[in-house]
Amino acid sequence: MILVTGGLGYIGSHTCVSLSDAGQDLVILDNLSNSKAAVLERLREICPNVVQFEKGDIRDKATLTRVFNTFKISAVLHFAGLKAVGESNKSPISYYDNNVGGTLCLLEAMTAAAVRTLVFSSSATVYGDCSDVPIPEDNSRSATNPYGRSKLFIEDILADLYASDNQWRIARLRYFNPVGAHESGRIGEDPVGVPANLMPYIAQVAVGHREQLNVFGGDYPTRDGTGLRDYVHVMDLAEGHVAALRGLQRQGGMLTVNLGTGRGTSVLELINAFSLVSQREIPYKIVERRLGDVAQSYAAVGHAEQILGWKAKRQLSDMCADHWRWQIENPDGYPES
Ligand code: NAD
Ligand code: UDP
Repeated sequence: MILVTGGLGYIGSHTCVSLSDAGQDLVILDNLSNSKAAVLERLREICPNVVQFEKGDIRDKATLTRVFNTFKISAVLHFAGLKAVGESNKSPISYYDNNVGGTLCLLEAMTAAAVRTLVFSSSATVYGDCSDVPIPEDNSRSATNPYGRSKLFIEDILADLYASDNQWRIARLRYFNPVGAHESGRIGEDPVGVPANLMPYIAQVAVGHREQLNVFGGDYPTRDGTGLRDYVHVMDLAEGHVAALRGLQRQGGMLTVNLGTGRGTSVLELINAFSLVSQREIPYKIVERRLGDVAQSYAAVGHAEQILGWKAKRQLSDMCADHWRWQIENPDGYPES
């Protein structure tokens, strides 16, 4: 059985589907701080295998001990954590507590239970303000905010752990910009309040929840002046986790891998692609640059293909079509339950 922390969240829930499709039974541990119980019902509809659920916090040792004692866990996929850059500037302690402190508790519990296979959700944010694209895994790392620093700290903790005991099998997966939803339209991204990210914002404008999109900066040194990012379909990302788990089971070691498509898409290109797929107009206005944004960020993807045999398959039009299906079929996100 695989333990999925944060498995009711956006990326975790989609990864549960891919794991289940790959024949795995799952137990999800989530404190519902940024997700709803309805996700579990939807997962049980879609997933062919057993999905167990424990409501609880990864910082709670008793909960972790109970989970490891109750289920026969062979590996952990660790998504639980806080992820909003702006909020992390305002509440750095809760970011370090949840992300770093939570990971330490999890690692202690894994050690006690002799479970030493871990796939960790890192982020392209560890490349700091690097704009030299495509970005390879051996690029220098830095942080520009507490969220990013929490990911750097955890990456380093995992490297130290592996150096101390190479029985551990650890994958540090650096996601670029996950977007889209499962093809069924049953699960997707359900941000609380005003979306901080581009794709959910565009989708909410398209569905009529918001009037217009603010495009942050039109004077970047890019082909149309707006920022370039590496948008990757969340189901491709999910399949990347299955590939990482198989890679660890096959060869052990510590893997550090970018998960992206290797292609940069501008804000205006994403607006146009979404508009085409949804047949909706997306009104927008170009405003000041957002503080801390880089002009362009996209992944070097050769390493993922070489060591995991994984490559993103889905196109930008698929990302928009699947995101739109989720949005139009669930205009207010998941129901409260
Ligand atoms: P999310 O907020 O949708 O999911 C995180 C889940 O973890 C939520 O269900 C939340 O309730 C749960 N959680 C948070 N703290 C917890 C705790 N202490 N104990 C138990 N459960 C807890 O986020 P996501 O977009 O699915 O991101 C998953 C991971 O991927 C995060 O670690 C995030 O930093 C990382 N990541 C996300 C992105 C992105 O753009 N979404 C990009 C790079 C990296
Ligand atoms: N962006 C934008 N308007 C928004 C949100 C984002 O123009 O309301 C731009 C942002 O400046 C960046 C791109 O969209 O160029 C992706 O931003 P997002 O926050 O989704 O991802 P990240 O900045 O973390 O890569």
